[in-house]
Amino acid sequence: MGNRETKSDVILIGAGIMSATLGTLLKELVPEWEITVFEKLANAGEESSNAWNNAGTGHAALCELNYTVEKPDGSVDISKAININEQFQVSMQFWSYLVNSGLIQNPQDFIMPLPHMSMVQGEENVSFLKKRFEALSNNPLFQGMEFSDDPEKLKEWIPLIMQDRNLNEAIAATKIDTGTDVNFGSLTSMLFDHLKSKNVDINYKHSVNDIKHTSEGLWELKVKNLDSDTVERHTAKFVFIGGGGGSLHLLQKSGIPEGKHIGGFPVSGIFMVCKNPEVVEQHHAKVYGKAKVGAPPMSVPHLDTRFIDNEKSLLFGPFAGFSPKFLKNGSMLDLITSVKPDNVLTMLAAGAKEMPLTKYLIQQVMLSKEQRMEELREFIPNAKAEDWDLVVAGQRVQVIKDTEAGKGTLQFGTEVITAADGSIAALLGASPGASTAVHVMLEVINKCFPEHMLEWEPKIREMIPSYGMSLMENPELLHKIHDSTAETLGLIEKELVLS
Ligand SMILES: Cc1cc2nc3c(=O)[nH]c(=O)nc-3n(C[C@H](O)[C@H](O)[C@H](O)COP(=O)(O)OP(=O)(O)OC[C@H]3O[C@@H](n4cnc5c(N)ncnc54)[C@H](O)[C@@H]3O)c2cc1C
Repeated sequence: MGNRETKSDVILIGAGIMSATLGTLLKELVPEWEITVFEKLANAGEESSNAWNNAGTGHAALCELNYTVEKPDGSVDISKAININEQFQVSMQFWSYLVNSGLIQNPQDFIMPLPHMSMVQGEENVSFLKKRFEALSNNPLFQGMEFSDDPEKLKEWIPLIMQDRNLNEAIAATKIDTGTDVNFGSLTSMLFDHLKSKNVDINYKHSVNDIKHTSEGLWELKVKNLDSDTVERHTAKFVFIGGGGGSLHLLQKSGIPEGKHIGGFPVSGIFMVCKNPEVVEQHHAKVYGKAKVGAPPMSVPHLDTRFIDNEKSLLFGPFAGFSPKFLKNGSMLDLITSVKPDNVLTMLAAGAKEMPLTKYLIQQVMLSKEQRMEELREFIPNAKAEDWDLVVAGQRVQVIKDTEAGKGTLQFGTEVITAADGSIAALLGASPGASTAVHVMLEVINKCFPEHMLEWEPKIREMIPSYGMSLMENPELLHKIHDSTAETLGLIEKELVLS
């Protein structure tokens, strides 16, 4: 047993975008609180938050068709899209605050402007897209969205996709120029550099193995120092479990009743990447299509321009896959060891219900490169196999829980689980993910520190001027915020340079 011990106000487990965001928010709200971080890898932002492990879409529901469903009466429900867009505006405001206050520099290292587009084929899909466009474009949050079913216009917008395309089927797209590509890995590293400069104690290569509530009402963590191979004990008044896919196991170890009857199901992501400049230069957008029948919502295919480490590339995918690991750097035993007496029935119910998903994932795993190229050719008809390589992305652990819809229901969103006394919180699930980190971490703060909210509100409003308000209902504030965040984050200037 190692003899290093610490006592902190706050412990953050995991150095991904969620812990980075929560740590930064708390440091602004209560600079005097002592914060300690434990991360099992050697650096911050190396799991799902790493740029190559996610799609880098600043999810604002500008292009993702799964956020706008068609209702039985044929109208399009845009309520989820509105929610996600409002949440993304919260992130944009917080990131602008960080840049304006000099807490992070060079926003171009983590965010770039990029048109977001949806593209569909076939009469029925075109009619859906048009209805979706009409419902969204009247809303201030989606102002500037254009629709076209004219192949000549589409050739201007997406030349690579329209080249050599057989046009005997109807085709249409929407385009909005206020979309973004976000390097969440780079942002995570910037935030941890900032936290380090504020004396946050960041411990890499430290794996949290156990969490227990002490008789004094503190949380005691058993942490393995992977360099010295010793076990340390660290205590805190408040613990945030931001372990990404690793969060479920840690939540189970905490023993809180709110963590019972919850299971996890891992879905892997695989992308194809193209770095051939001749191809890359012909595309400048994120273009989202429609999910195939039977595919889970996170498998909507899209063709994206990416900006990673000052290099432009194209990414296509994701193809889903199956691995029992809960983290890309996890263990093959993750799934089986997550089954506990309290969640076994929930897991079994989900297993029986989700056979079509399991079948779909197995089919996806078995795809050959040529079969993946065929799916890519639905986007780029003349794509050549030699221009494209496979990259394995991160793991998404979907939450399984008992809901009104039945026992063992698979959830595709994000779940914040907190103890009744607010002394511990865990984040499960991964969608819409990193884009809404600021909104989700404010939810953690709200749930866990209600007694401080009155005192903290003015500072939160300084960081996020629209805090607690609907921007959709305040179009003037929306425009003001939109213009100022675009300027601070360098989104207008670069738009001009790139076009
Ligand atoms: C294929 C794919 C595509 C995605 N696309 C998008 C997208 O386009 N836009 C978007 O907004 N989001 C996207 N997401 C979701 C987004 O990546 C995640 O929501 C986000 O990165 C999660 O951040 P996190 O901090 O919770 O987890 P992570 O970034 O995974 O960080 C968790 C950290 O905890 C550490 N850890 C785990 N267990 C322990 C332990 N016991 N002890 C110490 N450390 C531990 C891990 O090593 C890791 O560094 C995507 C995800 C995937 C997988």
